[in-house]
Amino acid sequence: MALDPMTMLTMTIALAAAAALYLGMEWRAVQAPSLLLWSAGFATISIGSTLALLRGSGILLIGIWFANGLLVTAHWLFLLGVARFTQTTLSKNWYLIFALWLGLLLLPDQPWWSKVMLVSNSLLVTRLMLKASWLLRPHGRSLSVGAVQLRYILLAHGMFYLAKAVTAVMPGTLIDLAAFRGEIIQISLVEGAMAIMLIALSMTGSERYRREKHIARLAARDPLTGLYNRREFEARGQRLLDKVTDTRPAALLLMDIDHFKLVNDLYGHSAGDQLLITLSELMRSTLPDGSLAARLGGDEFVILLDDTSSERVLAWSTALREAFQASALHRFATPEAVTLSIGASLFSEAPASLAVLIERSDSALYESKRGGRNRLRLVDQRADDSSSLPTQ
Ligand code: GH3
Ligand code: MG
Repeated sequence: MALDPMTMLTMTIALAAAAALYLGMEWRAVQAPSLLLWSAGFATISIGSTLALLRGSGILLIGIWFANGLLVTAHWLFLLGVARFTQTTLSKNWYLIFALWLGLLLLPDQPWWSKVMLVSNSLLVTRLMLKASWLLRPHGRSLSVGAVQLRYILLAHGMFYLAKAVTAVMPGTLIDLAAFRGEIIQISLVEGAMAIMLIALSMTGSERYRREKHIARLAARDPLTGLYNRREFEARGQRLLDKVTDTRPAALLLMDIDHFKLVNDLYGHSAGDQLLITLSELMRSTLPDGSLAARLGGDEFVILLDDTSSERVLAWSTALREAFQASALHRFATPEAVTLSIGASLFSEAPASLAVLIERSDSALYESKRGGRNRLRLVDQRADDSSSLPTQ
């Protein structure tokens, strides 16, 4: 089968319609607005290419000017989708593109009409694609693998259109949009079919990667404090235990707020929530690099300190207890002081599992509570000697 322009155009209509449908179905499943804009972009290409067939019947205004205008609109919708995806707002100036396109209607009917139309169309598409690719550059929050792919595909697509504009202005290049004659038009139709597939696939990929990352984050974190949950703590903690040696001991600290229920009962559940967030922020801002913190549930938290010593555990725990006590006292007047009890075990030989370690620290925490609360009970597994370190 000869790949004449009409056959290629018919294929483009089908491919763009399939891409619109595919992205539309993705949008129905995940409801991301960017997917809907991208789907509308492909639907516009499909309609535009259908109208382009009319130029064969001599209907040039619709078959060329309107059809090519729809191609620009489609790329404008792609840019709008990228802006939504990257959470950026486009300036109103981007609407001027349509005014420019309207201005082309004023062109006199001259032999160079086809060239001007093709160059204008190509430069507008280039501008839109370079902007979209620029929005997808890595900045602030790093972008997923899918978004990086989309960035380069849009960039390549934009550069192709730039090359097309440059070739068109070279003397002697044959362009006859009405009869679909000229090599540039044929090459452009082939590039168009490839671009539709690559762009549509990387668009869905971008949203999927982002969603997967979001779901993975939800599965690993405690929603209230943003700290890791028990499952993630166990997965990451095991890796940290592998680094423990005689010269590089580690400590597992379990902590539980004292008389936390009083805050809930006297000030309401959301005040209690705020106190849990305060504690997690104190932990986050004071923890040494390389340590691991998680909320086990309720008012119970766990910390794994890497490469530490009993002095460092004591210093860190005392600073955290004091900061927490001061913050709770400042905000809530309670019959019993709202403080922090900590049970810790220091070790230089990794135990069989984290669960064993948590159990040991839990016994230390229990002793800390029984000993009067607001204190650290540290069990040094290496010396087989233990010490309770109260508030002072
Ligand atoms: P103790 O001094 O013995 O530790 O007693 P406590 O009052 O701190 O109470 P305990 O640790 O036994 O129980 C924790 C309470 O925390 C039980 C529950 O009502 C409350 N709680 C659990 N999860 C949440 C939460 O997400 N938000 C709030 N506001 N309260 C919670
Ligand atoms: Mg408690």
